[in-house]
Amino acid sequence: AETLLAVEDLKTYFYTEAGVVKAVDGVSFTLKKGETLGVVGESGSGKSITAMSILQLIASPPGRIVGGKIIFNGENLLDKSPEEIRKIRGNEIAMIFQDPMTSLNPVLTIGEQLIEVIILHQKLDKKSAAKKAVEMLSLVGIPEAEKRLKAYPHQFSGGMRQRAMIAIALSCNPKLLIADEPTTALDVTIQAQILKLMNDLKERFHTSIMMITHDLGVVAEICDDVVVMYAGRPVEYADVNTLFESPLHPYTWGLLASLPRIDDREKKRLEPIEGLPPDLVNMPPGCPFAPRCKKAMEICRVQRPEYREIKKGHLVACHLYLNMGDQ
Ligand code: SF4
Ligand code: MG
Repeated sequence: AETLLAVEDLKTYFYTEAGVVKAVDGVSFTLKKGETLGVVGESGSGKSITAMSILQLIASPPGRIVGGKIIFNGENLLDKSPEEIRKIRGNEIAMIFQDPMTSLNPVLTIGEQLIEVIILHQKLDKKSAAKKAVEMLSLVGIPEAEKRLKAYPHQFSGGMRQRAMIAIALSCNPKLLIADEPTTALDVTIQAQILKLMNDLKERFHTSIMMITHDLGVVAEICDDVVVMYAGRPVEYADVNTLFESPLHPYTWGLLASLPRIDDREKKRLEPIEGLPPDLVNMPPGCPFAPRCKKAMEICRVQRPEYREIKKGHLVACHLYLNMGDQ
């Protein structure tokens, strides 16, 4: 499939009193049209900052995008004016968050919010937009949609609110939907329903999805390709089957080993890998994972491993594969 989004060597730093926090420090990945890319890693690995950088929602100061490119549909978003970016946000790229309450307006009904978006993005008159709103709510599995349009966000359950958010996001007809931990706050049954819904909608609308999650279980259910991030950098990229069947990076091994078994999904948070991620202000000179890595060698402490393609479509940043691939 064609590439929709190519992030190239993106760097987003935060200038704080404690020093320069290199939250995103050389992130590269591609997302193809109509596919779902999982962006996986522990909290603080730079997943959300990457997403916020794509939408240029980084608070500045203290944050700043200091390098790289974000090629969306053939154009570098970092060359666009704030005005152009505002148009792209919402029109071509929509985002849903872990807590839909942060993006829903508590004083407007779900219907009012949905209809407003439909009028704005689909250029319909109020009456057709209201009809379309009912359709969209039914489509995302909200029963008695016509009646539910009159409800306020607080009258919805968490799962319903997330469905409503998805309906609003899709009403913009976005080419790309960025979902940041959209199911993390939901219980397991509802989580599975929302993931299925997203899969169905992807088939139906051919929307590309960037799914940010700390949960490899979510990745297994919904993603085509996966990028694993650690300490602000990608450490592995592969299609989902390859990643689960032959992962190369020791950090990915750790994530997979800590994946709860399928009958144990109640405990959906990953068991943390021993040790802590490095200080993003004072990064160690070699591999950022070295202090936690059971395979660490001498070179790992002094030289940063290059992130490169080891096999076709499989990239990794690890000295274990020095003699493999394109060298
Ligand atoms: Fe471990 Fe070395 Fe690979 Fe880093 S480069 S993940 S320390 S083996
Ligand atoms: Mg996050």
